[in-house]
Amino acid sequence: MESVKVVIVGGGAAGLAAAKTLSPDVNYLLIEAQDYIGGRIRTVDAAPDAVVDLGAQFIHGKTNNRVYEICKQLDCIMALSSVNNEETIAIRSDRTRLNPEIVDTVQTVWEEFAKEAQSKFGDVTIPTDNSFYDYLIENFKPLFLSALPSCEHLLDEFIDYFDKAELVENGCSSLATLSLAEYGSYEYLEGLMEYELKNGGYRPFISYLKSFIPDDNRIRLNSEVVRVKYLNDTHQLQVETRNHNIKSEHEQEISTILCDHIVWTSSLGYLKENFSSIFADEIELIEQKQDAINRLGFDTINKTVLIYEKRFWPDGVGKIMLLDRQKQKSIEFSDSLKTLIKIEHIDERVVSTIIEAVHRYDELRSTNVPILICWFGGSAALLIEDINENIIGQICHEVLCHYLNLSSKSNKLNRVLKSEWHKNRFIRGSYSYYSIKSSAKAGEQLRTAYEPDGIPRILFAGEATHENGYSTVHGALESGIREGNRLLSILNE
Ligand SMILES: Cc1cc2nc3c(=O)[nH]c(=O)nc-3n(C[C@H](O)[C@H](O)[C@H](O)COP(=O)(O)OP(=O)(O)OC[C@H]3O[C@@H](n4cnc5c(N)ncnc54)[C@H](O)[C@@H]3O)c2cc1C
Repeated sequence: MESVKVVIVGGGAAGLAAAKTLSPDVNYLLIEAQDYIGGRIRTVDAAPDAVVDLGAQFIHGKTNNRVYEICKQLDCIMALSSVNNEETIAIRSDRTRLNPEIVDTVQTVWEEFAKEAQSKFGDVTIPTDNSFYDYLIENFKPLFLSALPSCEHLLDEFIDYFDKAELVENGCSSLATLSLAEYGSYEYLEGLMEYELKNGGYRPFISYLKSFIPDDNRIRLNSEVVRVKYLNDTHQLQVETRNHNIKSEHEQEISTILCDHIVWTSSLGYLKENFSSIFADEIELIEQKQDAINRLGFDTINKTVLIYEKRFWPDGVGKIMLLDRQKQKSIEFSDSLKTLIKIEHIDERVVSTIIEAVHRYDELRSTNVPILICWFGGSAALLIEDINENIIGQICHEVLCHYLNLSSKSNKLNRVLKSEWHKNRFIRGSYSYYSIKSSAKAGEQLRTAYEPDGIPRILFAGEATHENGYSTVHGALESGIREGNRLLSILNE
């Protein structure tokens, strides 16, 4: 039977960072269920000379951010001069464009409001089931009205906009499930909230991490760890894997590997679905973690990428915000889109939910190919996974053209891509958050190692295990380094 010292489960940022930290001197094997390395970092070619990240796209913050440091060294971060001079515009469904000063002021008010919400972290008087939504409804209005006393008529539209934007930001299905008390547990690193990457996206970063893994069969793709059992007599772990890519009759579907330690890095979404079956033999481990896995939040956000023949949105505009809660009432789709919706039997309510969810278009500034990214959170993020990408793309396109008062026919969509992070059964969503049912204790339970014989045998990494950088690439990377170092200190004892 195959035997190694360490099995690393998962080839995302956390698994790759664990492998790099261990170094090739340790006899490890990295097992990845899918046919690519990167996990929720998924960089694809969208057009000749244009790549797009369907998963992680930005670097959040600069100071003490190892991802920023690596990408800086790889020279793959876009210069600020090339992104700073682009404007954000906000348009209402009656096609009026808001005065840029109002947009700037509202954004400042939102930042102030979010800071106030963050300051509730550690305040023991906040009931654990208080949601971010309750706080938003009670506290945003006074701040908004004191900054913009003559704009009360815009208040509901902006609350609605920020509600949708926060769903995407936090990866939660509703702000009513996002914990207020833990909202501030996420640490914003100094620097910009969103550093953009050059054309190539996160690809150089993944190649860099992979370059530390020797080309000697240390990575096994298409192989899912389906069962783990601790063997009392030998103090080893028996790891059963299922091969998802059997090419010849000599290859087995199920293989068994023995190892002394595991670094487990799969997403919280995957754990929610599979934890109790994979570790069915380890009752103590299930008692240690199942509750935390159930309570911590993990829902879905998705992107639709619109690739155009030529740019048609206003010059100098990098982000477009759409306002108006009732926008579907005023939009008349083209006959061809109506026919497509009919042929595919897409329910009217589904179409309405999708139109309602459209709120933000970002220009991809790393390429000269005209590309817009449209973000979906909440229930719409799940709905778009089941609809043909050309229909979703055309809906996003026609909504935008309606707001810009332009003909949708004269601006041709060349190609549409969309992410499907929930459908991916090895991920099952986007990233973790603290739900109103969870607290810091749940996070701690998730990252605690399993020590059936007093020695850490199964170590847990991955973005959801990071104390204050969860939901990010830097959190994932650091968690892999953390567990790699923990393991090294055990191996060196
Ligand atoms: C749409 C979207 C946008 C995002 N935007 C950003 C952003 O702009 N900036 C940012 O910092 N972060 C962003 N993130 C979050 C970021 O992508 C993740 O936090 C990070 O990539 C997670 O890395 P990880 O190694 O913890 O997990 P993953 O990348 O999920 O890696 C885990 C790996 O384990 C594999 N696996 C699971 N189960 C098994 C098994 N049983 N056996 C073998 N292999 C298994 C999976 O296939 C996967 O490859 C975004 C995520 C999404 C989905």
